[in-house]
Amino acid sequence: MTTLDALPLRQELRDRRAYGAPQIATAVKLNTNESPFPPPQALLDAIGESLRAAASDLHRYPDPDAGALRRDLAGYVSQTDGAEVSAQNIWVANGSNEVMQHVLQAFGGPGRSAMGFEPTYSMYRHLTLGTGTRWMAEQRGDDFSLNLIDARRAIVERRPDVVVIANPNSPDGGSVSLEGIETLVTAAPGIVVVDEAYVEFSAQTSATTLVERHPTKLMVSRTLSKAFGMAGIRLGYLVAHPAVVEAMRLVRLPYHLSTFTQAAARAALSHHQRMAETVRLLIAERRRVTQELTSLGFTVAPSDGNFLLFGSFPDAAAAWNRYVDRGVLLRDVGIDGHLRTAIGSPTENDAFLAASSAIRNSVP
Ligand code: PMP
Repeated sequence: MTTLDALPLRQELRDRRAYGAPQIATAVKLNTNESPFPPPQALLDAIGESLRAAASDLHRYPDPDAGALRRDLAGYVSQTDGAEVSAQNIWVANGSNEVMQHVLQAFGGPGRSAMGFEPTYSMYRHLTLGTGTRWMAEQRGDDFSLNLIDARRAIVERRPDVVVIANPNSPDGGSVSLEGIETLVTAAPGIVVVDEAYVEFSAQTSATTLVERHPTKLMVSRTLSKAFGMAGIRLGYLVAHPAVVEAMRLVRLPYHLSTFTQAAARAALSHHQRMAETVRLLIAERRRVTQELTSLGFTVAPSDGNFLLFGSFPDAAAAWNRYVDRGVLLRDVGIDGHLRTAIGSPTENDAFLAASSAIRNSVP
């Protein structure tokens, strides 16, 4: 049988594993921080209509500038964040993963470096590998928080071309304040990307409000995958200065965002009021699950996201299997003694808490 080893693969890709969470069919799926709620009927109808209308143009390539979608996104950001944003400030791509890839293609690459603060979203490191960017890992504290003095010092001393900060951070959900972000932007010799994939679940003000003050340095990445509950659409966007958006055009593939993606995303955005309601429910559930886990004797990292990192387990991999045995799929993010759970629907959270109680009270 021919295996990867037989291929003339780039040296730095040898012995690497593809990114992805183990997928097992369980009753309760809490491993990838998705929304637990499928689109309601009104949104399904809106998406259906939008796709049907778009289908009549399928013999043509999509709008390469995604003009209508970028205008809608600019309206959404201006309305919810209070930032003055127009379509020229918005870049769109297939999920915020692709947004981040474009950023690294344009501002990282061979001979350049990107700094992140681990543990953090592991795709950053992965994307540096694919784009030939040198990854500079700095560490968060034992409680997963980002020490701003240490982070600033690392940026000043090591001078990365790109700094990536997930805010809220995954896998723990902790946030840096807006002032903290600005301190790091001021210190950075290159650019700073703030990844706000989970920002709608956070009480912090968005860094989009700082873009105008730091036009050549700061960019903010967002997604419809989490709060909007639209992970299947694959729509991420960047809020940045128009010159940065021009830079993104240099590295994107022609017609990278399909007609259907653009149409479905516009329909999803038009229902953002409903999204705000589910976010409120999930935040209330996050509070309840945190309290109940704590009263079961677990330690839970304070989270501004739709997920919780908790422990401790004598053996996280074994604990992960015990949850699976009880029909609950969590994420083992490779942090000693810890597992991560998404906040699900109230029923799913009850199932997760019942499993947690059983696992806590049984001899490992
Ligand atoms: N950033 C963070 C911190 C994430 O956790 C995720 C999803 N797991 C993403 C970005 C990517 O999201 P998407 O590509 O679906 O927009």
